[in-house]
Amino acid sequence: MTILPIIEAPDPRLRVVSEPVAAVDDALRALMDDMLATMYDAPGIGLAAIQVGVAKRVLVIDLQRRGEPVEDGGSVEDGGPVEVREPRYFVNPEIVWESDEDGVYNEGCLSVPELYGDVMRPQRIRAKWLDYNGKACEEELDGLMATCLQHEMDHLEGILFFDHLSKLKRDMIVKKLTKAKRGKIAA
Ligand SMILES: [Zn+2]
Repeated sequence: MTILPIIEAPDPRLRVVSEPVAAVDDALRALMDDMLATMYDAPGIGLAAIQVGVAKRVLVIDLQRRGEPVEDGGSVEDGGPVEVREPRYFVNPEIVWESDEDGVYNEGCLSVPELYGDVMRPQRIRAKWLDYNGKACEEELDGLMATCLQHEMDHLEGILFFDHLSKLKRDMIVKKLTKAKRGKIAA
């Protein structure tokens, strides 16, 4: 598995609309493996293929919930909570239903480092997609998983989380990104 470089805003490639995947084959699975390794390394909870420069409708998500600390003879074992890895792969995802109730989550993005904003999205969604083996799946998702899938699906349309913010907040983020970029070139 290879850790791939993550493209950062304002790189114009992040504005590209990704193409549907024709077949879930070994080449696509290799890409998904690399995307997952890249996401864990970053670290992040979701990554769309376009964030590593591939304009295909593919996402990986792992919320990496923190498990309960291990109890040992009544005392909690040292070492803190155990990480639970549950990688999920979404090929050609589509939202088929969304709830009327919205939820707000303070979102960040691996392509927009160190900047965050409160984004309002439907709290629950029903989505369908193809999994790692090309099997058709359909499921109702809520909470952070619903938020994360919607955030990643935005990437497939060339949309970034700050596009959902007020003009004032959006301008602030774009200004910071442009400055950071200039700084990098100068360094
Ligand atoms: Zn993102």
